[in-house]
Amino acid sequence: MKKGMLPVILCVVFILIGPPSFIDARSDDSSFEKPVVIIDAGHTNKMPGAVSITGKYEVEYNDNLVSKISNVLTGAGFVTIPTRNPNQEIKLEERVNIANSHNALAMLSIHHDSAQLVYLELIEKNGKKAYRTRKPISGYSIFVSKKNSQFDSSFIFAKLLGEELIKLGRKPTLHHAEPIPGEGRPLLDADLGIYQYDDLVVLKQSTIPAVLLEVGVIVDQTDEAYVTRLDHQESIVNAILVSLGKFKNIQKNR
Ligand SMILES: [Zn+2]
Repeated sequence: MKKGMLPVILCVVFILIGPPSFIDARSDDSSFEKPVVIIDAGHTNKMPGAVSITGKYEVEYNDNLVSKISNVLTGAGFVTIPTRNPNQEIKLEERVNIANSHNALAMLSIHHDSAQLVYLELIEKNGKKAYRTRKPISGYSIFVSKKNSQFDSSFIFAKLLGEELIKLGRKPTLHHAEPIPGEGRPLLDADLGIYQYDDLVVLKQSTIPAVLLEVGVIVDQTDEAYVTRLDHQESIVNAILVSLGKFKNIQKNR
């Protein structure tokens, strides 16, 4: 997400979907044999999100990880549907429409985090303005909306995801709960870093379980380095895979 100046959520994009062969009905066990997962890469080239400490836009981090998530999930038997292609512009509502039209198990929106300006220092990287944290802010955050019609399931998925990320040695960043302008998000589970963020469009308007993951804080030197390492990306993708596998089994038995 971004910092306060740019409403985070507003960025969303979409792509053309790819595929097709979905499932029939959620109530049918066959729906779980090859479950559909909507993978949403936050932002677009025109609304690229935060600028990292290394001068890259957030959208680049999101697209890179989404590509890896899609490959790994597909290899593990999921059907993945992106909400947008890498160079595609798309509105938030279009992302939601895609999420709602595939009888999917869940939607996972991928973002990389920033912080409020009060915690940032202006720097220059690659000829453009960038920011870095004045004090360390590291970790992931997970958001869910109580306005989502499947909030309970969204929260279950969020907890499973948080548990797998914690197993990697990651910690949640709690800076979105601070009582300052632009933050103050209620924590539903501080240990797992799960926040309530009701009005995020892609979460509240989705009719399937939906979770937004801020993978790491890319204006922080340590955390940007963490999420940039290929082995860490692999671990994060695997954590997502494991959590979706567990979530699928829970949904199947409900
Ligand atoms: Zn973002």
